[in-house]
Amino acid sequence: MTYRGRFAPSPTGPLHFGSLVSALASWLDARAHRGTWLVRIEDIDGPRTVPGAAQEILATLGSFGMHADEAPLWQSTGTARYRQALEQLKASGLIYPCGCTRKEIADSLLRAHTRNTTLAYPGTCRDGLHGKPARAWRLRVPDGDAAIIRFHDRWQGQQTQNLATEVGDFVLRRADDQWAYQLAVVVDDADAGITHIVRGADLLDSTARQIYLQRCLGVPTPSYLHVPVVTNQDGEKLSKQTGATALDRAKPLEALYAAAQHLELDMSSGTHSSLEDFYAAATAAWAVKMDVRV
Ligand code: GLU
Repeated sequence: MTYRGRFAPSPTGPLHFGSLVSALASWLDARAHRGTWLVRIEDIDGPRTVPGAAQEILATLGSFGMHADEAPLWQSTGTARYRQALEQLKASGLIYPCGCTRKEIADSLLRAHTRNTTLAYPGTCRDGLHGKPARAWRLRVPDGDAAIIRFHDRWQGQQTQNLATEVGDFVLRRADDQWAYQLAVVVDDADAGITHIVRGADLLDSTARQIYLQRCLGVPTPSYLHVPVVTNQDGEKLSKQTGATALDRAKPLEALYAAAQHLELDMSSGTHSSLEDFYAAATAAWAVKMDVRV
């Protein structure tokens, strides 16, 4: 098997401990499979991108000894491919323009909620814009049993999501003229030939949407592994907003050991005082834990 994995940070700030855990897990899985590891900078969300953050992330990965096997990919260069995918879906009648504002959706969800249904997009614009201007493009999700997406996650086990009742028709092109993450990630992973996705469990909930979109576009579904997210003392996911600090590039081993511990790797086979030693031991421990055999 030709294994191709990736780490896909959003350049919204410097690398912190939470993103190191995802980077390390994807790196170790690629190494354990003797595969290829790529880095993709997810700089598609213009308003959230912080100038200089991508370079800082790449430099930090480098000083932690994680070098991509191919040149880094930049999402901002992919817009022609996203447009092409949207056109393909438009031609197959799978997407429709939506004129709802956030407030309108919130109001109708509130009404629906009181009738005891769930919080999926209610499909207001499915049968037309009702005279409103088009704001976004949504992918129509199937009804009935076809809406149930099942997949096996290598860490979290069997997963099931009903796209119709739990998500609803979801946005691929946003009202602010930005490409939605769900579309960009599926197109990019397919174009890069990614076979294995290893990332934080905060994205577990997006995976069924991505699998459905892969089916609509006729591209393969990779295997998935979602590692537990790192939380702060208040139980919130570690991020710049919840007080994560930048990693100290001068002390990579300390942070790497802590990340290995978070990933429940058995590193008791000795003290590893060089990056090389650390990665050799951590890769072996990962292969045992995740039952990787090559
Ligand atoms: N860019 C996303 C993030 O930093 C990760 C996307 C992915 O791995 O699919 O949360």
